[in-house]
Amino acid sequence: CAKQEGRGQFRFFEADMDRRMRDFQAMERDLREAIQLNQFELYFQPMVHIASGSISGYEALVRWHHPTRGFVSPADFIPVAEEAGLIHELGSWILDEACRIAMTWPSHIVVSVNISPIQFGGVGLPLAVASALSKSGLPCERLMLEITEGVFLNDSDHTMMILAQLKALGVSFAMDDFGTGYSSLSYIRKFPFDRIKIDQSFLRDLSDNPESLAIVRAVTNLCRDLGMKTTAEGVETIEQVTILQRLGCGYAQGYHFGRPMTASAVLEQLADVAHRPLKVVSSHS
Ligand code: C2E
Ligand code: MG
Ligand code: MG
Ligand code: MG
Repeated sequence: CAKQEGRGQFRFFEADMDRRMRDFQAMERDLREAIQLNQFELYFQPMVHIASGSISGYEALVRWHHPTRGFVSPADFIPVAEEAGLIHELGSWILDEACRIAMTWPSHIVVSVNISPIQFGGVGLPLAVASALSKSGLPCERLMLEITEGVFLNDSDHTMMILAQLKALGVSFAMDDFGTGYSSLSYIRKFPFDRIKIDQSFLRDLSDNPESLAIVRAVTNLCRDLGMKTTAEGVETIEQVTILQRLGCGYAQGYHFGRPMTASAVLEQLADVAHRPLKVVSSHS
C-alpha cells in the first residue's frame, strides 16, 4: 500500500543520506591529508587578447591527484573543502603557488586566481594575498582575483570591508561566471571590477541562439561603457572567436586557445609565442 511504499522511499532516502555523509567524511579526511602530502598542483589556462592574438595572462586552476581516487575535479572537491573549512589553508597555498610560478613568466603576464566566497569569511584573506605577493616578490598589478557573485550573498558590510582591503593591496578583480546568478548587474555597481568574465554557458550556443548572442553583445557594450574589460569563457571554436571579434569582446579563454596546462607547459608556450602570436582566426578565413 501507499503507506508502506512511502516508508520504503524514506529508508531509501536515509540510506542515500548515510552514504553521502560517509563519502563526504572520507573526502574531507583525504583532503586534509592531501594538504599535508602536497597532492595538489596548479594548472594554467591562457587568457588571450583577441585582436592581437597575444597572451595577457593565465588563470590558475587547481588539480588534485589522489593515489587511489585518481584525478579529482575541483568542481567535486572545492565544495567539500569549503564545507570542511579547509578552503582557507588550500586557498593560501593556491595564492602562494600561483604568485611563485607567475614570477617565472615575462613581466607583462598576469596570473588570475579563483577565490571562494568562503575565503571572504573571517579576516584572513587580505593577509594571505599580501603574504603571497611579498613572499614571491610578484608586483601587485600582476595578480588578479576572480570572484563570483556568491561573495555578495551574505553579510555585505563584512564583504565590502574585505574587498576594500584587497583593493588597497593594488590587485585587480574579475567577476567570474557573469550572468549565471540572480543579480549580476547590481554587483558590478557595488564594486569596481576591472574585468568581467562572461560565463561559458552563453558561449556554448552563441552561433545558433539569438538570445545568447544578444546577451554577449549587451554585456560587451556595458563593459565598454563602464570601462571594464571583457573575457569570454569557454571559447572552443573559430566561429565563436569570429563572432566575439565582431561584437568587440576584448579577451577570450577556452579550449580553442589552450586547455589548462602544467607550469612547465606554460613556459614552453610562452617561449613559443615570443616568436609568433597565437593563431586567432585561420589564415584562409
Ligand atoms: P571557473 O573559474 O569558471 O573555471 C573555468 C572552468 O572551465 C575550468 O574548469 C576550465 O578548465 C574549464 N574550461 C576552460 N575552457 C573551457 C572550454 O573551452 N570548454 C569547456 N567545456 N570548459 C572549459 P575546472 O578547472 O574544472 O574548474 C571548475 C571550477 O572550479 C572553476 O570554474 C572554479 O569555480 C573552481 N576552481 C578551479 N580552481 C580553483 C581554485 O584554485 N580555487 C577555487 N576557489 N576554485 C577553483
Ligand atoms: Mg575562474
Ligand atoms: Mg568561470
Ligand atoms: Mg565556474
